[in-house]
Amino acid sequence: MFKDTEKFQIIFEKAGDGILAADIKTKRFIFANPKICEITGYSENELLKMGVEDIHPKKDLPYILEQFQKQIEGTVVIIKNIPVLKKDRAISYCDISAWPAKVGNQKLLFGFFRDITARKQIEESLKNAKIAARNVLEDLQFEKEALANANAKDEALLQSIGEGVVAIDKDGKIILMNHMAEQILSLNAEKMIGKSLYEAWKMLDEKGNPVPESMRPVIAALRGKTTTTTTTTTNTGPSYFYVRKNGTVFPVSITVTPVIVNNKIIGAIDIFHDITKEKEAEKLKTDFLSLASHQLRTPLSGTKWLIETMRREILGTLNKKQKEYIDQIYQLNERMIHLVFEMLSILRLEGGIESVKKETVLIPILCKDILISMTAAAKSMGIVLYSNLKNHKDFAIRTDQEILKNILECFVSNAINYSRDRQKVILGAEEQSDAVVFFVKDSGIGIPEKEQKKIFERFYRASNAKDLKPTGSGLGLNIAKMLAGKIGAEISFESEENKGSTFYLRVPKRSNKE
Ligand code: ADP
Repeated sequence: MFKDTEKFQIIFEKAGDGILAADIKTKRFIFANPKICEITGYSENELLKMGVEDIHPKKDLPYILEQFQKQIEGTVVIIKNIPVLKKDRAISYCDISAWPAKVGNQKLLFGFFRDITARKQIEESLKNAKIAARNVLEDLQFEKEALANANAKDEALLQSIGEGVVAIDKDGKIILMNHMAEQILSLNAEKMIGKSLYEAWKMLDEKGNPVPESMRPVIAALRGKTTTTTTTTTNTGPSYFYVRKNGTVFPVSITVTPVIVNNKIIGAIDIFHDITKEKEAEKLKTDFLSLASHQLRTPLSGTKWLIETMRREILGTLNKKQKEYIDQIYQLNERMIHLVFEMLSILRLEGGIESVKKETVLIPILCKDILISMTAAAKSMGIVLYSNLKNHKDFAIRTDQEILKNILECFVSNAINYSRDRQKVILGAEEQSDAVVFFVKDSGIGIPEKEQKKIFERFYRASNAKDLKPTGSGLGLNIAKMLAGKIGAEISFESEENKGSTFYLRVPKRSNKE
């Protein structure tokens, strides 16, 4: 049997809890076991020179001393989560159970320290994990809501969009139809879902013939991966019509886009709107144009005739100043005539009034005519005109002579305007197997590279052209391009600033405009 002191000694030394005994009065330590040394980092000797106040952070002392008092009185046995200040100034947390006891004459308080730092850390990490999990959940919830919102927004957008939207699957069956599509076509979306688009409503071409299923833009999109757009105006492409359920017909502008996922076409979207109003406005514009073209031309030609009469001094001699003024009025009037001519050409082309002829055009004769008509303008600028066509008498193409001439005149007039004194301008043509390529080459100011892609825009003039000739309109090439479109031809050019430009017109021998 162990003696009591031996028993006490073993418990004291092997205990899993730290044990400290403090004098109740002085609060100095009397005993310390190995475990408390491990918890605090102090040796036994060090601890025996210390007291309660030395092993806790200062800020926590009032509470700890209060609890110490209660433990002495026996009203509280265990105090939890007490910070213990270690020798290395780090903090361990302990639950401390304590009992007062009398050893000899000394009244002691025995404290049993259970180190809960590790537990606390686990609790802390658990808490953090909980917070993290909650955050993830919240994020998920947020994403879910955002997705729902986005879906709702898409849905609202789709439904409120001012155009008819119909989506079809890869077999041409309707899978979605928005309100506007229902309204425009007088159809009920619910009843249309699952039906073939071809059966849902008919489409007519310009002549009123039904467009066969294989030619419907939406079917073409399913096959071809390309976006098809039919235009809103008559001049730039064929017009199409949709037929409502009640049989009424309206002109329509359609954009069809295939839906491609992983490089496979999984369906197509047909976006369309009724262009009845645009067509009406177009007709009004056309009516106005034919009226305006007569009304504007007449007074301008009248003025031209009057000025010329005065210029030729038929009504009497003019003094130097009068001559100068009359010349200026003449130039201004010429500019106005040219401008009105160009504007009317554009409007006429847009209005689709211009009809296209098919006639045999003898190219050498055409080029000669053009050079003759431009000689005066070239001479006044000191420019020399050439042609490379002298020996090709039978060189011909079937197209619209007037349109061809207008385009080439525009090229030659630009070449003259943007060349300098004594430079050459060459007009020529070359035969290729499927086309004739006309060209106009100058060695003039050229077009700055940065501005090249804009020169076909209406009213656009390159900076160097504006400096050299402030009075141009920036309409010539725009008209030329539209005219080229009418005869199925293409315009291209090469140009280098300060070196010169060559403009090409490629007229196919067999045009798909036939
Ligand atoms: P405009 O000659 O009345 O300005 P155009 O539409 O005929 O209008 O030409 C547009 C612009 O293209 C010109 O302002 C000029 O900057 C450029 N351009 C056209 N032809 C030539 C050319 N042969 N040399 C240099 N610049 C040219």
